[in-house]
Amino acid sequence: MSRAATIVQVVREAYRRPEGFLPLHAPIFKGNESAYVQSTIESTFVSSVGEYVAQFETMLQDLTGAAHVIATTNGTTALHMSLLLAGVERDDLVVTQALSFVATANAIAHAGAVPAFVDVDSDSLGMSPSALGAFLIEECERSSKGCIHRATGRRIAACVPMHSFGLPARIEEIVALCDSWGIPVIEDAAEALGSRSGAAHCGTFGLLGTLSFNGNKICTTGGGGAIMTNDSALAKRAKHLTTTAKVPHRWRFEHDAVGFNFRLPNLNAALGCAQLEQLDAFVAFKRNLAHHYQGAFRDAGISVIAERPGTFSNYWLSAILLKDRSERDACLEFTNEAGVMTRPIWEPLHTLPMFCSAPRGALDVTQEIADRLINIPSGVLPAAV
Ligand SMILES: *Cc1c(COP(=O)(O)O)cnc(C)c1O
Repeated sequence: MSRAATIVQVVREAYRRPEGFLPLHAPIFKGNESAYVQSTIESTFVSSVGEYVAQFETMLQDLTGAAHVIATTNGTTALHMSLLLAGVERDDLVVTQALSFVATANAIAHAGAVPAFVDVDSDSLGMSPSALGAFLIEECERSSKGCIHRATGRRIAACVPMHSFGLPARIEEIVALCDSWGIPVIEDAAEALGSRSGAAHCGTFGLLGTLSFNGNKICTTGGGGAIMTNDSALAKRAKHLTTTAKVPHRWRFEHDAVGFNFRLPNLNAALGCAQLEQLDAFVAFKRNLAHHYQGAFRDAGISVIAERPGTFSNYWLSAILLKDRSERDACLEFTNEAGVMTRPIWEPLHTLPMFCSAPRGALDVTQEIADRLINIPSGVLPAAV
């Protein structure tokens, strides 16, 4: 049997679905979603005021251990705001990984900065501490203004590692390295709700961390995001700037900064509260599925990306590696034709037209993973929760 046919068979067995379409991922609403959303409609508080936003933020604090959580309109705005809070200014450089969803680099551009791309590790698919270290040592220098990228003269104002598909990156090493260079870390944990490195939740290692609740993520609010931080002054500033920088008063419209309308609507937060109640069940399903895939694909000689020892992945999307780009393309064609939805990983960010002139280190692992990886169906079965 061809490897493409093996993939179809393994996925269909895992889901016990011998035929019919199997999506990559689909949200499921089997808990209190309808009841909570309905209650916001009945209360008329569907927008920027209402009790579910605060409840959603508290639930996220409890889940992640972050001292402060600020809900936002989406993961991109959470990242944009976090970059501004960390002190990123126009024309700064922000180091991130070339292998990420485009939103990571978009947020950097929205903050007026330019991304600089470094490689990922082949096991975690997250930013490689050694690639980051090499970039800093070979291309940057310490100065009174901070860490300066020699070739462009730009300041490295922040570092944004991403926890790919929920697999925790080597975040402790990245934070230690950045601390030694005086660079604040903002973790893009959009895909990593429920994932931990050691005992701590992804997104709580850096100065700030962000989450996404887009429809394809492990928990959804329709659209939504969140900022996590243990710094109470930054949290206060985040709340202020995401809500039009309005000075509190019973009726006066006074604003003391150019603020943003990044506040998560109550309607979306209601959906999110119901989803968070089921996070443990979603994670358990995905981990089970990932373990099943690991066993079945090992027997078939296909490598599966697995969590590193000492880490706990939510296995948001399961991923396998094929031989090369041509086998990958053949497998994408075959599996999608057979009704088993699969997708390639993102085109590396430095290959996109808007980021192709950004500074970068060596990106060999990024290119290899981009050629070989596909995501396979990873959604929770409604019957299973
Ligand atoms: C989903 C995602 C985002 C952006 O989240 P939105 O809520 O869609 O804006 C950012 N980074 C990564 C890695 C993501 O997967």
